[in-house]
Amino acid sequence: MLREVFGFDQFRGEQLAIIDQLVAGNDAIVLMPTGGGKSICYQIAALIRPGLGVVVSPLIALMKDQVDALHQAGVRAAALNSRLSLGEVADIEREVRDDALDLLYVSPERLITTRCLDLLSGRRLALFAVDEAHCISQWGHDFRPEYQRLSIIKERFPQVPLVALTATADGPTRRDIVAQLGLAQARVFAAGYDRPNLFYRIVPKRNSLEQLWRFLSIDHPVDAGIIYCFTRRRVEETAEWLAARGRPAVPYHAGLDVAARESAQDRFLQDEGVVIAATIAFGMGIDKPNVRFVAHLDAPKNLEAYYQETGRAGRDGLPADAWMCYGMSDVMNLVRLLDAGEKSPQRRRIERQKLDALIGYCETVACRRQVLLGYFGEVDRPPCGNCDNCRTPVPTWDGTVAAQKALSAAYRTGQRFGSHHLVDVLLGQETERVVRLRHNQLKTFGVGSELDRRGWLSVFRQLVAQGLLLPDTAGHGGLSLGPDTAAILRGTKTVQFRRDPRNAAERRSERGRTTEPDLDPAARALWEALRAWRLQEARRQELPPYVIFHDSTLAEIARRRPGSLTALASISGIGSNKLGRYGSVIIDIVAEKNPQGGLSSGSGMQSEEIR
Ligand code: ADP
Ligand code: ZN
Repeated sequence: MLREVFGFDQFRGEQLAIIDQLVAGNDAIVLMPTGGGKSICYQIAALIRPGLGVVVSPLIALMKDQVDALHQAGVRAAALNSRLSLGEVADIEREVRDDALDLLYVSPERLITTRCLDLLSGRRLALFAVDEAHCISQWGHDFRPEYQRLSIIKERFPQVPLVALTATADGPTRRDIVAQLGLAQARVFAAGYDRPNLFYRIVPKRNSLEQLWRFLSIDHPVDAGIIYCFTRRRVEETAEWLAARGRPAVPYHAGLDVAARESAQDRFLQDEGVVIAATIAFGMGIDKPNVRFVAHLDAPKNLEAYYQETGRAGRDGLPADAWMCYGMSDVMNLVRLLDAGEKSPQRRRIERQKLDALIGYCETVACRRQVLLGYFGEVDRPPCGNCDNCRTPVPTWDGTVAAQKALSAAYRTGQRFGSHHLVDVLLGQETERVVRLRHNQLKTFGVGSELDRRGWLSVFRQLVAQGLLLPDTAGHGGLSLGPDTAAILRGTKTVQFRRDPRNAAERRSERGRTTEPDLDPAARALWEALRAWRLQEARRQELPPYVIFHDSTLAEIARRRPGSLTALASISGIGSNKLGRYGSVIIDIVAEKNPQGGLSSGSGMQSEEIR
């Protein structure tokens, strides 16, 4: 089934064990990172078991993508959701009654209607799959009240195997899934959180848009990607700024009207190489496999959010980038957010811990993946070799004296000024403010000539990150001394700092390879031709290009130049339905782009014969 329908040769990880569990009629909970290949598990199990497989999915866009992809693979699938007309609903219901479907996708609110439950009660059912199962939990970030009513599945259909799937579920969320879906008997398949194809990189924030531009032009000149920004205004500025520089870019945030949001999302999905600048409102249910980078122009809220957001890159398993630009202003913004609103002391403490973990991750000199996965409970991993710190170890320096000077500048100015002013004092700059406040008469005035402004700003940022300086809660940026500073000022405790790279260019492309497939010039020409054909075909069928073929499939065709349908069939991602539908066209394109030029008509004939 894997080979025939989906065109893949091997199962990944625990896919086969999960399928076995379901085919045997048992329940399962599947925790697998994004891109791990969850869908194939319930799709194949549903195709093997007699009857209809019912998939509960929270988002219409997600359902549509899956159904389109299944159609391409020749699977009989449909989606029931609120977008359909009454006539379309009636058609799908008829197909269900006629046993003319293998898979039915439904939204949770649709499933729990009497009409839908009655429809299903009369049928033989292969299984139920609850996708994005973490939506069930109030503790999670994507809570959906309708999900809590899905307990009805086990009540009404106790004999039908049920599988709950998610990419993010901490302990409490997992317990909610078990309790609410009635999955006490289910076997848990936990694949771990690692996304080995993601390259994690964090650069110290200077001029973030310029830094972003450098990252894009060097590493992703033509790729699609997501840029997360802290505010709506910043989203719009960023999209405009990129567009003005000739990069196809669209904005997305919750303040835009529905039509604008949809058109942005459609462009991102349907076209190739579109960059979307977005707030956290964007991303849930985005299944686009060839998002080649996720850039955080501003720091995310916490590591859970970071993991989710970066997880949208590289679902296809090919190399992808998780890039972040981080600085003092991010820390300030997040602290302000922490203190905003009515919150119980307990809630505030938890959020503070989460923020500390995020800052620790940003400032670490250790392997990023170790820190990130350690946060999710996966400890004792070796350094990954696929993050900035592994690739270019960060030198540290003894910053005790610098810390003493910085702390004393904050202390002597009354613990209410921000880092820029304090740096002015340390550097002996007689700014209007320094003079007015007589800060040029302080003992610390001008004692900091050993570092430049950038160096001092880095010191202040790291002092805040280490909890040695505390940002004020009113959000004015004032810094006061933290609890453990006395020992440092006395000189009985030392401080280590990471040495920030001089400039972003120093660390550029340290990833050592681009995320573009590695192809020789002739193969590249073929790959471009195949992509052009795919885009045309996608437009004709009004589908996103990746639903027709994945980049990895086209790259393999370009590399191997199959001269026959049999050869083509052995390429990963080409199942029998796609082979029948597109096989001969592809063989023709391969023949046309023959590197030996003169032979092209000859190989064209060869493919004629085969057809
Ligand atoms: P998830 O839902 O876990 O995020 P998907 O089910 O969308 O992941 O799968 C991610 C990608 O991996 C898809 O493009 C899918 O076609 C591909 N994939 C899944 N299983 C395999 C496999 N066994 N071999 C090759 N590719 C696979
Ligand atoms: Zn690493």
